[in-house]
Amino acid sequence: MPAAKFEITRQCKVCGETFVAKTIESWYCTPKCFKIAWKRRKDEEQRLQRLDEVVKKIPKSKEYITVSEAYALFGISKETLYRLIRKGTIPSVNAGERQTLLSKEELMKLYPLRKKALTKPKPIAKLYSLEPKDCYTIGEITEKFLVNESTVYLHIRKYSIPTRQIGNFVYVPKKEIDNLYKDMKR
Ligand SMILES: [Zn+2]
Repeated sequence: MPAAKFEITRQCKVCGETFVAKTIESWYCTPKCFKIAWKRRKDEEQRLQRLDEVVKKIPKSKEYITVSEAYALFGISKETLYRLIRKGTIPSVNAGERQTLLSKEELMKLYPLRKKALTKPKPIAKLYSLEPKDCYTIGEITEKFLVNESTVYLHIRKYSIPTRQIGNFVYVPKKEIDNLYKDMKR
């Protein structure tokens, strides 16, 4: 019996050309496109690292944050943030002539935090423990991090965090939640 030929046709993630992938890890048609992708990834990592630096400097107790801080924390574009301010969707205060501050709490209700640059970009076969001792219940999360339930569920979906239901309780791995909310802990 002849061996089945291993052939995957893909679209190059850089130029969009169709090509035959040699291995399951081939995403680019040529070394040139591979290099372009590599450069883009490096630039993006640096951009995210700069944002992380901004995030680190935001005092945890700060209730109102600047547009730049909101961008760094949530990854929402400044245009969007200014639109939210104009529409009054997010409570804001004027602190000086060119300084508008936004409510961090209200932003958190609407947007998940930006994923950290420092977490590995492609976690392969991440292992979770869904044993209750290694998990928070949703109620524990809302209490510990002062986030409301719907926000927690939003983040769980957005970041594909696994959950486990036992009886009336939904369990979520502590590690994932601690990591997600480490900047919000008070
Ligand atoms: Zn290409």
